[in-house]
Amino acid sequence: MNTKEIIDRIATDHFAEKEDILAVIQDNSNDEYLFESADRVRREIYGTDVFIRGLIEISNYCKNNCLYCGIRRDNREISRYRLTEPDILLCCDTGYELGFRTFVIQGGEDIYFSDDVLCSIIKKIKEKYPDCAVTISMGERSEESYKKLFSAGADRYLLRHETSSKEHYEKLHPEEMSFENRMKCLKTLKQIGYQTGAGFMVGSPYQTKENLVSDLLFLKELEPEMAGIGPFIAHKDTPFRDCKNGSLRDTLVMVALTRLLLPHALIPSTTALGTIDPKGRELGLKAGANVVMPNLSPVKFRKLYALYDNKICMGDEAAECRKCLERRVESAGYKIVTDRGDWRA
Ligand code: SAH
Repeated sequence: MNTKEIIDRIATDHFAEKEDILAVIQDNSNDEYLFESADRVRREIYGTDVFIRGLIEISNYCKNNCLYCGIRRDNREISRYRLTEPDILLCCDTGYELGFRTFVIQGGEDIYFSDDVLCSIIKKIKEKYPDCAVTISMGERSEESYKKLFSAGADRYLLRHETSSKEHYEKLHPEEMSFENRMKCLKTLKQIGYQTGAGFMVGSPYQTKENLVSDLLFLKELEPEMAGIGPFIAHKDTPFRDCKNGSLRDTLVMVALTRLLLPHALIPSTTALGTIDPKGRELGLKAGANVVMPNLSPVKFRKLYALYDNKICMGDEAAECRKCLERRVESAGYKIVTDRGDWRA
């Protein structure tokens, strides 16, 4: 079977064997065909709709020490900040005005954000904006904690698996972090009833093609409602400072294959993709992505939430970001909608 036939089969069956995926990854002569197929599958379910999520980066304090991440515990080069509840609500006010109907509360694993503190924030947002979805992305927590946040009104949770190989996971994380716990958290989140997001970095240090294949098969098995896929980008104050960044092509191929395997998934065209290429986010949308997550964090804190170097949109006020994105999304042939943008069965 040639690569085009393999792509056709994955696009119809939404299923693939290891060898199929490897063949598509290794043959770059049919990339355009792959992207067009992913776009067709996406349009069948979501049309040209692009959902926007207002990202609020609430803290860059983190107790973890992930080797790739710029806000890791051992990075003494950044000043640390956290937003207060009123700060966060102000970000939501701005976002709501601009048409955002999902707010994503993201941060490092900052113990200040206890269940009580987070639950209060979630409740306040939901009280003020009952027509909005709240997504939490605050890392690994206990089952009890995930339940409390869910009861407080959180609708979705983003927790990338980062890599589906235990061996690879252990090369990206310090010994005190556990692959098993990350996996357990993802299963718990699904069980509780969150729309759950998994995902991984493309081109992270030590990653093999086989790792990428297994990342896709893992997504297929877990069936998350959301899948975040972006290139690894080195950060100068981490042990991976000299490592090569993930490539545009490989990231787009992963996005497209994810769309073929999970036709209903909500897939962001990530800021990291826009960072490695000026047209990265547009290309991501054309390769099957249907979500963008612009930043609603106060501009004065933006540069402190640097997970990787050269992150884009550091200086733009939310309103500028929104306009810029609107143009970009339309230039790619899609339309931003004012909608919670829930997963569609
Ligand atoms: N603390 C939360 C949020 C993490 S930041 C959590 O653990 O889920 C969100 C994502 O940024 C991470 O899941 C990771 O995949 C990505 N990220 C971190 N460092 C990165 C880097 N150097 N390059 C690209 N993506 C990175």
